[in-house]
Amino acid sequence: MSTIPRRKFIQLSAVAAAGYFAQSGREARAEELPHVAEDDPMAQAMKYTHDASTVDAASRTNPAADQTCLNCALLQGTDGDAWRPCQIFPGKSVAAAGWCSVWAPKG
Ligand code: SF4
Repeated sequence: MSTIPRRKFIQLSAVAAAGYFAQSGREARAEELPHVAEDDPMAQAMKYTHDASTVDAASRTNPAADQTCLNCALLQGTDGDAWRPCQIFPGKSVAAAGWCSVWAPKG
């Protein structure tokens, strides 16, 4: 490998590494994702609410289960955060105390 391509390779590696760490930083700030709005068409289609206690349990598929985003298998992010990413709403965060009709029990 000649000197110039090797130097170029090192520069590109540094740029790639910087991009990786910048991406990791964005993931670490998941709570800063915009909150999904209850009147968002997707949220309405999923009957999403910020407050699971406002949902009539009888209207749910499994009324007996205690259902909030916090105990849903699709919730992501960090335990303890009030707003966290959800696989159903990419690029947005949902309330840990929220709920939607896609709720799934943790395996
Ligand atoms: Fe909450 Fe689960 Fe619905 Fe996401 S899929 S909004 S975590 S209940």
